[in-house]
Amino acid sequence: MELNILTLIYLIGAVTFILGLKMLAHPARARRGNLLAAFGMCIAILGTIFLYKDEQGNGLHNYGWIFGGILIGGIIGTLAAKKVKMTAMPEMVSMFNGMGGACAALISIVEFNRLVSHPVITSLPPSGFLSVVVSQGELLIILLGLMIGSVSFSGSMIAWGKLNGTIKDFSFKGQHILNLIILAGVFVLAVYLFVNADDLFRFDGTSAVFTLKGHLIFYGVFVLALLYGVFFVMPIGGADMPVVISLLNSFTGVAAACGGFLYDNKVMLTGGILVGAAGTLLTILMCKAMNRSLANVLIGSFGGGNKSGVTGQKQHGTYKEITLSDAAVLMAYANRVMIVPGYGLAVAQAQHACHDLEKLLVERGVDVKYAIHPVAGRMPGHMNVLLAEADVSYEKLLEMEQANEDFPTTDVALVLGANDVVNPAAKTDPSSPIYGMPILEVELAKHVIVNKRSMKPGYAGIENDLFFQKKTSMLFGDAKKVLQDLIAEIKNL
Ligand code: NDP
Repeated sequence: MELNILTLIYLIGAVTFILGLKMLAHPARARRGNLLAAFGMCIAILGTIFLYKDEQGNGLHNYGWIFGGILIGGIIGTLAAKKVKMTAMPEMVSMFNGMGGACAALISIVEFNRLVSHPVITSLPPSGFLSVVVSQGELLIILLGLMIGSVSFSGSMIAWGKLNGTIKDFSFKGQHILNLIILAGVFVLAVYLFVNADDLFRFDGTSAVFTLKGHLIFYGVFVLALLYGVFFVMPIGGADMPVVISLLNSFTGVAAACGGFLYDNKVMLTGGILVGAAGTLLTILMCKAMNRSLANVLIGSFGGGNKSGVTGQKQHGTYKEITLSDAAVLMAYANRVMIVPGYGLAVAQAQHACHDLEKLLVERGVDVKYAIHPVAGRMPGHMNVLLAEADVSYEKLLEMEQANEDFPTTDVALVLGANDVVNPAAKTDPSSPIYGMPILEVELAKHVIVNKRSMKPGYAGIENDLFFQKKTSMLFGDAKKVLQDLIAEIKNL
């Protein structure tokens, strides 16, 4: 009876995950979707703790450890989420993703030790040779969870460091070969262990004991997989980070699904598969946004390589500035204004001021839309989240393709803290590290106003020719302050 209730709870949990994910697709329903999925996760966890029984009918009993862990993790998670600044969200997402990978790897370590300490013994000395059988299915899932979880953990930690600026891109000649050697090492050790597990036991006088060699091979897989995660993410060039972040996200999902298989826990399996599938779809979308092939991503040979054009390079010429009042007039009397938000808008926390400017212009009869680049900001969907926070209508957000069709009929493109995603070098300069990445073609608009604080480059570290073009005027300053001043100017017109 209890098992049936637990199965029902798992079913409800799985349904809430799917509905929650569906609701996340629209900003208006995203918050409720998140709460719904969190509710499903809560009942699944509590159901497992109180109702789970193994084949012998034993339930969980070490409640002190379980609730101690939940309490500590819950407090740290709540404080981290409450305190995090909007600009630090991408790092936190990366860190949490890494923790998921670490959990999956730890589950594999615990379960491996359980598996080899309770092998099925088919014959023992002195009546016969030592003969042991290790469940191949369990071992396979344990090894997969260990490899994928470890790569996801160490890779996410490097991504975390890169996003908060503490770790710089690092690569050396032959790095990709070394990556392949490490990856091959992971597979060779894992396959060896999988094939020979039954023979890696010795007789200690009373029973079968897993050998030191066997343990070393297992922990060798663990260490090499961790190392691979580090080397895999280390060289990835600035603008290619979104792809690797989504990929690591899908790795964590698959690693968690391995845990679901291992424990025959349907809700863990569903949750893991959903994260894995969503992460994979996001990876494909990010690849498309960056114009990279998935194969290129999987062998870890993209980005970082071509560093020509990195900071400190030639200046393209002179740029011109525009005054606040001129910018205000230009926009107030325009027919159509396209706002192009970027990472700087998040830094300045200027989303509310941006929405206020939009409303003011709309009141004056201006058609205002937002052009959203899929990799603008520092995490997938960053601009959507940011603008949703300020209640910007979802209908006003145009995807890149649509926005690019609309730029030729746009009077003013107002670039707010965006840089790489409007850099024409992606189309025109084959030596640029972002060459091939589709961009928002703001230069097709009649006027381009770029707001940023200085002439410094964006995340990819490259100069932007857009700022030196004839149509472009620079409006320097912190985005929030500039927007507030623009609003005041327009009100005075
Ligand atoms: P960029 O990082 O290219 O540029 C942001 C610009 O904002 C900077 O040039 C900066 O110039 C300006 N800025 C910073 N603070 C302020 C402020 N307070 N007010 C006004 N301007 C400000 O951002 P984009 O959004 O154009 O591009 C995103 C980049 O990040 C891409 O290269 C992408 O690949 C990468 N990335 C994206 C991820 C994702 O998942 N979306 C993940 C990881 C990386 P200044 O200092 O002069 O003000």
